[in-house]
Amino acid sequence: TPTLLWLRRDLRLSDHAALEAAVARGGPVIPVYIRDHLTDALGAAPKQRLDMALEVFAETLEAKGSRLILRAGPAREVLEDLVRETGAGAVYWQRLHDPQAVERDTRVKSALKDAGLEVRSFPGQLLFEPWGVATGQGGYYRVFTPYWRAVKDRAVPEPLAAPADLPAPARWPGSDRRADWALSAPMRRGAAVLRAHVAAGEAAALTRLATFARDRIARYAEDRDLPAEDATSDMSQYLTTGEISPRRCWHAGLRARAAGKPGAETFLKELAWREFAAHLAWHSPELLSDNWRPEWRDFPWDANPERPEVLAWKQGRTGIPFVDAAMRELYVTGRMHNRARMIVASYLTKNLLAHWKIGCDWFADTLVDWDPASNAMGWQWVAGSGPDAAPYFRVFNPETQAEKFDPDRIYRRRWLAEGQAQPPDTALAFYQAIPRSWQLAPSDPPPTPREDPKRGRQRALDAYQTFR
Ligand code: FAD
Repeated sequence: TPTLLWLRRDLRLSDHAALEAAVARGGPVIPVYIRDHLTDALGAAPKQRLDMALEVFAETLEAKGSRLILRAGPAREVLEDLVRETGAGAVYWQRLHDPQAVERDTRVKSALKDAGLEVRSFPGQLLFEPWGVATGQGGYYRVFTPYWRAVKDRAVPEPLAAPADLPAPARWPGSDRRADWALSAPMRRGAAVLRAHVAAGEAAALTRLATFARDRIARYAEDRDLPAEDATSDMSQYLTTGEISPRRCWHAGLRARAAGKPGAETFLKELAWREFAAHLAWHSPELLSDNWRPEWRDFPWDANPERPEVLAWKQGRTGIPFVDAAMRELYVTGRMHNRARMIVASYLTKNLLAHWKIGCDWFADTLVDWDPASNAMGWQWVAGSGPDAAPYFRVFNPETQAEKFDPDRIYRRRWLAEGQAQPPDTALAFYQAIPRSWQLAPSDPPPTPREDPKRGRQRALDAYQTFR
C-alpha cells in the first residue's frame, strides 16, 4: 500500500528519516503538504518564505518523477481523505517540538492509529530530542553553558543521502494549485522585494553551507558580530523550512573543526543555541506565550502596540541610525543580523519599555527564519524575563554598539537612504517594499530621535528598581 509522507518543516530530500523509511517500506510514496490552521497562522514573511520553499520542493520532487500534493483543511480530515482516496496503509512524518504542533500531531496520531493505520514520526528537526537531554537530577536545562557541556560531544550520525528513487503511485490524488493558496499575498508590495533577496530550496542551502564552511567559518568567531559583513552561515531560514537538516550543518562544523578552522567551535555552539531554544520550549511551553520568569509578569511593560514610538520602531524611523538600519534590513530581506536583533530588541524593551511580545510578534510577521522557540527565547533573553537571560540592567547603547560593530558606517549607509546623495539600491528597496500608507520617501530628512537614549535608559533602570 502507499505511504503518505506528511511534510511540514522538512522540505528536503536528503537526510530525511521519514522519507527514507517510507521508501524502505516499499510501495508508492505520496508526499503531502497540508495548509492547516498552523500554516494560516504564520506571519506574512514566513508565509511567503514557505510559498517559495514549496515551489522549489515541488520542482525537486517532479524532477524525481514524484509530486507534492497540496491540500487545505484540518490535518486529520485531510489525511483521512487521502487514505480513502489512495488506499494508503501508513502515514509518516518528521516530529516538531513547539507546543501547537505537538498538540496537533498527538491528536492526529491517535486518530489515525485508531483507524488501523501504521503511523510513525521520526526525528530530524533537531540534533537532540528535548526529552533526551536531562540534568543530573533528571530535569531539563535552564542555563545554556551546562546544556552545551551535556551535548557538545554527543555522537551525531552522518546525514543520510537522498533516496535514489521515489516510487510513484499508479494514480496521483488531486492537489490544490499553489498559486490559489496565495501565500505571498499578505506581503503585498514587499513580496517582489523579498523574493529578490531569498534563494529558496535544498540545493541553495547546500551551496550556501559549502561556501560558508570553505570561505568564512575560519573567521566566524571574530566576524559574526559585524553586521556589514556576510560572515555568518544564513542557515536559519533553511533550518526553519527544513530545506537543510541540523545534522548536515553540525557535520560541516565538525569537519571544519577537525581541519583546524578556529571559528568552527563557535558555529557548533550557535547551532546548540537553536537546540537549547527547542529544549526549553518543549519543557516549558509558556516560554512562547508569557514571561518565562513568573515574577516578570508584574513588570510594568507597556503593551500598546500602536504607540507612536513603537510604530516608529517598526517602520525604521526611531532616529537612532543603527536601530533604523536594522529594522529596514528586516523589512527588505526578511532577515536581520543577530547583533542587530539584540540591539533593536533592547531598544524596544528597555528604552521604550514596550512589552517584548510586541517585538516578538513583529518579528513573527517579518522574519523569513521565524522559529517560535528561537524567537521567543531571543526576545526574553534580551528583555531579561527569560531563562539564562541577560540581566535587565544591561541596556545596549545603540550608539556605542554602532561605533564598535559598524565603525565605517557601512551597514547604516547600506540601509538608510536619508541624507545620502546617491543611496544604494538596498536602501531604496525599502521604499518599494513598505505600504504606501507609511508615507516615507528617500528624500525625507533623516528622522530625528523621538527619544533621548540616555533618558530612555534611565527610565528603564528606574522602572527596574521599582519593580525589584
Ligand atoms: P549563524 O550565526 O550562522 O548561526 C548558525 C545557526 O545557529 C543559525 O542558523 C541558527 O540556527 C543558530 N543560532 C545562532 N544564534 C542563535 C540564537 N541566538 N538562538 C537560536 N539559534 C541560534 N533565530 C531563528 O532561527 N529564528 C528566529 O525567529 C529568531 N529570532 C530571534 C530574535 C531575537 C530577539 C534574537 C536576539 C535572536 C533571534 N534568533 C532567531 C537567533 C539569531 O539571531 C539567528 O538564528 C541568526 O541571526 C541567524 O543567522 P545565521 O543563520 O546566519 O546564523
